[in-house]
Amino acid sequence: MSLARGLIRALPILILAGGFTSATGAPASSGDVKSVACRNARVARLEFEGVLGYLADQNYCEFPDSEIPVDALRLLEKAGALNVATAKVLGRSVDETFRVPVGMKLSADPLGSLVSEARGGGVVLNVLPEWSFSEFSSKIYVHEIVHTLAFNDGPTFEALRGLRDHPFLVEALPDLITAAVHGSAKMELGEADLPPSLRFIRDENPSHSLDAPFGRYYKLASFDEVIERCKTFARAAASPLANRICDGYASGKVAELERIRTFSRNYSIVAAAYTTPALATPFEADHCRVETENGLVFLENCDPHQFAYPLVSFFTRLEAETGRSVVAEFIAKIREGASGTAEFECRFAGGTLGFGGVPATVELRPLLGAFVGLRESFVSSDRAAFDRAWKEHGFGKLVDLDRLYRNESLSGAAQRAVMAKNAFFSDLKGCSDVYRFDSEACQVTCEKRR
Ligand SMILES: [Zn+2]
Repeated sequence: MSLARGLIRALPILILAGGFTSATGAPASSGDVKSVACRNARVARLEFEGVLGYLADQNYCEFPDSEIPVDALRLLEKAGALNVATAKVLGRSVDETFRVPVGMKLSADPLGSLVSEARGGGVVLNVLPEWSFSEFSSKIYVHEIVHTLAFNDGPTFEALRGLRDHPFLVEALPDLITAAVHGSAKMELGEADLPPSLRFIRDENPSHSLDAPFGRYYKLASFDEVIERCKTFARAAASPLANRICDGYASGKVAELERIRTFSRNYSIVAAAYTTPALATPFEADHCRVETENGLVFLENCDPHQFAYPLVSFFTRLEAETGRSVVAEFIAKIREGASGTAEFECRFAGGTLGFGGVPATVELRPLLGAFVGLRESFVSSDRAAFDRAWKEHGFGKLVDLDRLYRNESLSGAAQRAVMAKNAFFSDLKGCSDVYRFDSEACQVTCEKRR
């Protein structure tokens, strides 16, 4: 049971930002940056849309600082400081990390900061129309800036070779880095008038294990979580924003579930169902597996945002036991392993030089190597702490998920990558739907290059 990726992307409500830009997204153009504040912050574009008191379709970085509103200047100063702190955790200088300056857009949305995303070489932070700097969520900003760095050219993109789409990292790594930058596992929305249970999405306790029920990780788990949180305060006394979020998630879940059911009826998909007994069983990596009628495997029956819970929890526990944050060391191990990434060149078997023959590169590597490398770098007492945290967090399931990713996700990833490079061929031959296509006309073959 699952739904087309396009549908997920189009969803208006995704907790703590769903989308992220791809490497092909247009980078933020430096343009004519007059603002010193922008340059200092490594921001090439600062735009507003629908925000009271700000011009739409204007790059404020093209104005001298004297013409930029005070709150926008404070925003740039804060973003600049966060960029420095983020680069530090990522293990490269801020100049290197932000070699390509980023874009920043504040876009008005009735749901406020909960719905932010990264695209087009920058972050799109959603805000209420009457935004002021006090509502800036530095945690959501860092989450989105890590997406931006992960999917656009630069040292972070390189470090994550073969792991960028790993289900355990794609949304959880931005949260882990956010936690390291802030010295806190708490995720936090920007609007002060939200009830605390809705404003602080995650906290340190209790520890979050992969042995939790499947219901903690399935596709709609983010919806359930907000819906549960909405039961902890009096709706009548809560702010209009809180009520909009609660209503939006309740109706959003119903619509999503219906979409998934329709999708499952129309396609022959093999995946774990969302029945009450299934959601109550302990999570297994196989729960994330979606097998299409063409035999492709996508690990999208889980919500990757939810893996931030065990990942952040694991590193929070390690820090408590070793007395230091080892997130930057973990990133360094990820970076060290990049050169060992398996590389495949894939193409349509029926493509020709001028038609459908553009090859796509797919890179894959296991995540386990970075964990093993981290453990091996520890002194023996820290190793013992690592082993305890590993067990406590049920990370045997992570090994299973990693194995699935490495062994089974190539064909699906290849089909998508080749399709994206050969849109005209795909349309004409009916290969554009990865969940159903003519297996002969749309056959993709891959050759291991490294
Ligand atoms: Zn995200």
